[in-house]
Order: sequence, then C-alpha cells, then structure tokens
Amino acid sequence: MSLLKPLKRSSPCPCRSGASFGDCCEPFHRGLEPPTAEKLMRSRFSAYAAGNVDYILRTLHPNHADRAIPEEVLRETIRKGMSAFRYLGLTVEEAREEGERAFVTFTAKIMKQAKDHSFRETSEFEKTAEGWRYLSGETLPVRAK
Ligand SMILES: [Zn+2]
Repeated sequence: MSLLKPLKRSSPCPCRSGASFGDCCEPFHRGLEPPTAEKLMRSRFSAYAAGNVDYILRTLHPNHADRAIPEEVLRETIRKGMSAFRYLGLTVEEAREEGERAFVTFTAKIMKQAKDHSFRETSEFEKTAEGWRYLSGETLPVRAK
C-alpha cells in the first residue's frame, strides 16, 4: 500500500476526533471494519488526508455511481484529488443509523492552494456483508458561521 501523504500514528487524527491517528482512524485503514457509519465516514476523510487511495476504493459501496467508472480511471481521479487538496478539518453535525442504512451530515474543510473548497454533505451509507460502505452523497448549502 502506497500513501501519498504518510501520517504518523502519534499525529492528531485528520478527522478531528481529538484522538491520535493510531488510536482513531488508522486501525480501519489497516483492515479493521469501522463499527459505525460515522466512524467509516471519518476514516474516509482521514484516508483522503493520508493519501490512501486503496481505502477510499475499499469503502465505496458496490452500487455507488462512481463504480460505473473503470477502476483505474477512478483510482487516478481520487489520487489527483488527494494531491491537489488539503484536508484540513471535519465537523460532523448529525449521524443516524436506521438498520442497514445510515446518514451522516458533515462539513469538510478543504483547501486548494489558497482557495477554500469546503463543502457540506449528507452522506448515505449501507451496511454490506463486509461492513459500512459509502453509497451516495447529497451536497448541502454551506452554513454561515
Ligand atoms: Zn479519526
């Protein structure tokens, strides 16, 4: 597994949980399945911050729209996004699970050079036989501070 932006286990976790990377999202990146959809969502954000393309692909639901894209093309698109953006922070507003479905609303703070590309989204997740997977996302208006 090659990482674009390797992170130390002792570094603060990019998902801004307050825990270290090694005590938060890193075990999921190494193969443990996140027990909740919120943890999966957080670990996906951390994977973008750490440059872990494999994890983003692994946690993408088989029915996500991006699965229509040939895997090598998708992999390159994700890799380019990771290189171009800085993943600076994550705020989770709400997370609810309804059986095998879950919805997490969050704001991701993302910059490309000096330009703010932050966005707010409600992501939908489905629990598959493997674990929680990212099914789709709906972009929301960014809240005024
Ligand atoms: Zn984390």
